[in-house]
Amino acid sequence: MSSEKGKELGEGSSSRSAAATAADHHQQLQQQQPAQLSRYESQKRRDWITFGQYLKNQRPPVAMPQCNYSHVLEFLRYLDQFGKTKVHLQGCVFFGHPDPAGPCTCPLRQAWGSLDALIGRLRAAYEENGGLPEMNPFASGAIRVYLREAPNKFAASASFQFVFEVLSYLLDIATTFY
Ligand SMILES: [Zn+2]
Repeated sequence: MSSEKGKELGEGSSSRSAAATAADHHQQLQQQQPAQLSRYESQKRRDWITFGQYLKNQRPPVAMPQCNYSHVLEFLRYLDQFGKTKVHLQGCVFFGHPDPAGPCTCPLRQAWGSLDALIGRLRAAYEENGGLPEMNPFASGAIRVYLREAPNKFAASASFQFVFEVLSYLLDIATTFY
């Protein structure tokens, strides 16, 4: 099916046929090892449907070929509301702690690792569904920067907390001696 499409549209376009080849290869793999790939595959299908639904619900709706990295970034921010990882803001008493479920109003976020895996699946799904690799919004530099900065923000707040704890400790020692 996808190889037919690839042949029709693939004239002079190596990327189009590469996507078709990848899809064929992927189908072969699935036939060979259905049990091993099924969980990843079903997750990927679910993610792809969720993202398609998200684009359809935009006003005005966004067609997949018009989708760019900014839609993907909005989608990632939209997913944060379903996240379970608390990210404490500066000024919160839990600031710097990785994820205590404190009784505060700090936002919940998606865990960085799950976003990284999600983008990987959507990136593959985009090309398997006929998207051009060079147009792939999930492969965009802006997405890589977003994903790279997410763990740094956790790390920055954690190291701030470390410095704070060392200072408190030194202050404790100082007050014990004087
Ligand atoms: Zn907080």
